[in-house]
Amino acid sequence: MQYNTTIVSLAVMTTLLVFYFIRRRLALRSTRLFTVMIFCSFFNMCAELSTLYTIYHIDSVASQVNRLCHQLFIGSLDITIYFLFLYVDAKAHNQKRNHLLPFVLKTIPLAVSFIMVVFGRLAYHIGSDARYSYGPMAMTVYSCAALYIIGVVFLLVHHRHAFSYSVWKTILAGVTVWAAIALYQLLNPGALLSSMALMLMMVFLFLSFENPRDFIDHDIDGVMNGAAFSLMLSEYIESGKEFFIITFTLSNDKLLKTSLGYKDVFCILSSLNKNQYDITKEDAYHVKENTLCVLCRNNGSYTALLNRSSGVLPYKTDNGISVSLNYFTGILSVPQYVQTVQEVNEVIDYVSSEGIYRQEDGLLIIDDTVVVQMKRQAAIELLVQKAVEEDGLDVYYQPIYSVQKKRFVSAEALVRLKDTATLGYISPEVFIPIAEKQGIIKKLGTIVFEKVCEFSSLHNLKEKGVEYIEINISAIQGVDEKLPNLFKQIMSKYNISPDFINLEVTESASTVAGEMLVKTMEQLRKLGCRFSMDDFGTGYSNLAKMVNTPFDIIKIDKSLLWPCFSGDIRRRQEACILLESCIRLILKLNMHIVTEGVETEEQRAMLESYEVTYLQGYLFSKPIPESQYITFLDEHVKNL
Ligand code: C2E
Ligand code: CA
Ligand code: CA
Repeated sequence: MQYNTTIVSLAVMTTLLVFYFIRRRLALRSTRLFTVMIFCSFFNMCAELSTLYTIYHIDSVASQVNRLCHQLFIGSLDITIYFLFLYVDAKAHNQKRNHLLPFVLKTIPLAVSFIMVVFGRLAYHIGSDARYSYGPMAMTVYSCAALYIIGVVFLLVHHRHAFSYSVWKTILAGVTVWAAIALYQLLNPGALLSSMALMLMMVFLFLSFENPRDFIDHDIDGVMNGAAFSLMLSEYIESGKEFFIITFTLSNDKLLKTSLGYKDVFCILSSLNKNQYDITKEDAYHVKENTLCVLCRNNGSYTALLNRSSGVLPYKTDNGISVSLNYFTGILSVPQYVQTVQEVNEVIDYVSSEGIYRQEDGLLIIDDTVVVQMKRQAAIELLVQKAVEEDGLDVYYQPIYSVQKKRFVSAEALVRLKDTATLGYISPEVFIPIAEKQGIIKKLGTIVFEKVCEFSSLHNLKEKGVEYIEINISAIQGVDEKLPNLFKQIMSKYNISPDFINLEVTESASTVAGEMLVKTMEQLRKLGCRFSMDDFGTGYSNLAKMVNTPFDIIKIDKSLLWPCFSGDIRRRQEACILLESCIRLILKLNMHIVTEGVETEEQRAMLESYEVTYLQGYLFSKPIPESQYITFLDEHVKNL
């Protein structure tokens, strides 16, 4: 009967041990402490069993053996509670190691109880109802355990913010259960429930946050998850020693997901993990959808990575198709370049989404330059967001010259950030993609559209000889089915006739956006708006699309014009043939042409000889603010 609770506790504890050790554990300080704790409690239960035997066979067992068994039992109980205290202490102080003095102070009660375990007097109650030990040794040791339990409660209360609520709750509940049982045991010395109390507390802790299963990534074989990474990262950072974070980012993961499917992408990441393990010999964490991270302390894997040949991963799909996939590798030294968990996470976010790796081997040493670049990007993101929310945008106008009419019949509206003081001038080429990524491009586009309508109506641009204004729209706006109605409302609010508006859609946008864009375009065309294909010559120049999509004007990019005036004669001739043929083709299709980037009289003369309809470039004017544009128009109307 007396053996029952101990045997049950021991059985549960053995199962727990097996579950705990078959899985890979994190190398956290608290996890190491828990490992010691789980061993000590197991040992404690075995020792308790032995005391039960020796005390019930007290006449036949040597008294030294009986005392030794009790010493082992009582001593291991103390050590377990001591480690419980260190465990909570590690969690409360973000895994930080103790300095020598606090460590010594915290260990004094254990040392005292140890002396008592070795030299203290122990008596045995041999009754018909129960048999148990008591006396100064037992008392000291139980008081010491109580002291550590009070310490645990103190840590929980004092460092409340260091624990998540669920962790806090669980430890407190575990300790309360243990204390309640211990108190009952004190009042009923014959009950022998200490092993049961210990077992319950260990199960509590195991199930709530020392279960290795919680840290395994369930999608990718052999990889730990993001939660494990966060814990390990804070321990590494808290240690204050230098370490490296190596990021492995799969390129084109979105494309892979649509062409191969999620499962294959996970398999690819798993084989990327094997690949990286051969080099670094370290566990990887699945930190972002397309990114694995490795934490390492030794320079060896760093050098090995620098010397590896390329970032190419051979992979065979389930259907037996062999593909070569690219991955990018980033190496960050901490705390050399970044110091906090938040900064590390920002760097990982940044490098896993930007194409900033070396072309030849997909490698990036994340140094000061990258970190400064990242911080600037984050600052721009904030600035753009603020500009969209707080009227921080301006529209500039770049006049467009008609070759036939010999005057400025139109202008392109180009957005600018008002704030040039904080970060200097930022090109829309930089902040438009950021606005697209942040999901505020629709709002930005609407602001620009409304500003153009308001300005055109206020200054009656039509009377100044302006036939239409060109406004850039991004692909994201182009596929918004609400766009036609929205633009219609704004135009009627300012009494702008739709044929005064020409919307520029880039060549690449019209390739990507496809049918949805054509639908929006057709609705806007029905209202009377016109369209230009922007940046012709920079995308894939899908001629069939050009014919099928309702464009009125093709804007030839400067990259087709400028090579016609480059140094090398052969290249010049070839570039001229290409440009002239494009112009002839577009004119034959009955579309008008704007050539952008006209900077010299020489360029203008050549384009006029090719019968290009419109010219735009610094030769005539740079993009200028509203007031200057009005002055520009007034002067040119006068000069007519
Ligand atoms: P884009 O549509 O190709 O605009 C023409 C760009 O070429 C403008 O740059 C303009 O300043 C520049 N440019 C014009 N003539 C010359 C020249 O002779 N020489 C040189 N070197 N450059 C010339 P900007 O204003 O920096 O705009 C850059 C890009 O940002 C635009 O390229 C356009 O794609 C985008 N963007 C500008 N405003 C908006 C807008 O309101 N909405 C959207 N979605 N995109 C915009
Ligand atoms: Ca444009
Ligand atoms: Ca353009």
